[in-house]
Amino acid sequence: MCGIIGYLSTEPGVSKKIIHNLKKLEYRGYDSSGICLLKNTKFFLKKSVGEIQNLEQKLKFDDNCTLGIAHTRWATHGKVSLKNTHPHLSQDKSWAVVHNGIIENYLELKSYLESHGITLSSETDTEIIPNLMATYDNADNIEKLKQVTCMLRGSYAICLLHKGEQAIYVARRHSPLYIAQNKTSCMVSSDPVTFGEDFDSYYALPDDCLAKVDLKDILVYDSNLNKINIRPCEIGSFEKSAELGKYNYYAEKEISEIPKVVEEILLNYNTVDHFKKINKEFMKNIKKIKLIGCGTAYHACLMGAKYIQKDAQIEAQAEIASEFRYSNPLIDQETLCIFLSQSGETADTLLSLELAKNMGAKTIAIVNVPYSSIARQADIVLPLCAGMEVAVMSTKAYNAMLTVLKLLSQHFRWLDGKPKNVDFSKLKKVNYFKSIDQIDEISDLVLKHEKIFFIGRAEDYVTALEAGLKLKEITYINCVSIPSGELKHGTLSLVDQKSLVFVIATDPDLVAKNLSSASEIKARGGKIVLVTNLDVKSCEDIDYLYKFDETEQALSSLLSVIPFQVLSYKTCVKLGFSPDKPRNLAKSVTVE
Ligand code: GLU
Repeated sequence: MCGIIGYLSTEPGVSKKIIHNLKKLEYRGYDSSGICLLKNTKFFLKKSVGEIQNLEQKLKFDDNCTLGIAHTRWATHGKVSLKNTHPHLSQDKSWAVVHNGIIENYLELKSYLESHGITLSSETDTEIIPNLMATYDNADNIEKLKQVTCMLRGSYAICLLHKGEQAIYVARRHSPLYIAQNKTSCMVSSDPVTFGEDFDSYYALPDDCLAKVDLKDILVYDSNLNKINIRPCEIGSFEKSAELGKYNYYAEKEISEIPKVVEEILLNYNTVDHFKKINKEFMKNIKKIKLIGCGTAYHACLMGAKYIQKDAQIEAQAEIASEFRYSNPLIDQETLCIFLSQSGETADTLLSLELAKNMGAKTIAIVNVPYSSIARQADIVLPLCAGMEVAVMSTKAYNAMLTVLKLLSQHFRWLDGKPKNVDFSKLKKVNYFKSIDQIDEISDLVLKHEKIFFIGRAEDYVTALEAGLKLKEITYINCVSIPSGELKHGTLSLVDQKSLVFVIATDPDLVAKNLSSASEIKARGGKIVLVTNLDVKSCEDIDYLYKFDETEQALSSLLSVIPFQVLSYKTCVKLGFSPDKPRNLAKSVTVE
């Protein structure tokens, strides 16, 4: 959510570099963008609402500047408008800022500034920051930044310029920020994927730390202004894996990568012992497991809890991160908390991790972004090995989460002295996209119906939830996902001739029950699409039978979701919407 770029170079014309890199952060979601360049001790601002291209149009000249900061905003305080777009200047025009996050006590700080004769010109929480910097008259700018950050409550990644210096000041709390430097330039960014072209390594600014970055040095301080040393991270293949290639959209590319991602995980987990630290000693005294995440990652948590209870017979529960924090959770040293997040920056998940650690729980992170905050803070990290995911709608990362969770549940089983009972090698023979051509017809059916339902039992219910989320997210079609057995407890009253119901059935023991739910729907005039990999004799209650490839029962949840990912993508394109950037949503949700 939101992107920050700061760039300082020995070469003039820095705005081109900044815009080029800001575009690499587009995937995070934004509603407006802006840039501030420092020109002979004066700030030069350009802002625009909508796509970065609009901002680029306003910058068609040689800028001659060597220093600038830029921002893609995802509005939290104040509407989407030029006035609220970052960067913001202090009233005396001595400081410029871009900010990601939320300053919770901004109203209090605004009154404080007003009592000092300062009037803010935007509705944002951000504008207080440069103004607070300007009100402090200590000589040293890093000292001022310390004083100001001590006053801020909430989360932030901030990047500041002072009119008299060729330097970038940064600070962060709960929002990511990275720094890179070479002989001729230095750069600050919300994501190291922007560093690949010009730098070989980068630094992750630790939480609650500040830094002054210039062409000579990167000076990093903790919140008490003690100087600290941080180790550089190499730029690896993950940071370079964001090319669109032959595809029209990232969503299409990322769904097509699912087989490769699953293969990569199996290979990786076979050759590197990612489970080494999850040994008998680590699991000693663990009585229950909590899996915590948001959105699609939460659905992976639900699935993971089912895998663990079934395979390892340890009590396991999924929790929505934003709810978990306020549920007075009963966790202690005997609880293992597993945190799932594609980006590894999801604010609610990160804060839940901090809460769990404070309460003494053991922690594992399952994340895609290896350098993320969640990865850095958990006791053990299990990587998803999915390569960068750009589309806001998560697809391959979900399949990757299920694969890692299945491997983990088998590992727990093995630790408990029981033999592993899933043959992952069967996945090698699977056609992940079997019958996918039929999805076009099914998508026409979706567009013809007013009400869409997804139903299933056990693991298939989780697939129904994820199928519904995918459809809502990018097609804006309202739909309901519900356990088959819950239909007659209320929702069945919605079913009529305008309804299309997807019945998901992958468990031979439950198929008869699922088919009787289908009959109940049919009797009320609804149309049925049965999605299965079983040998179901087509019966008259089923209007459309969609069969995906068979595999071992324990692995079918990895495949059953794919037709729905493709269905949402195809329906979205038919409707003329962008599958990569749905309205109102951001890829990396770094605010609560
Ligand atoms: N809270 C700030 C605003 O509304 C920053 C939002 C963001 O992270 O883009 O302007």
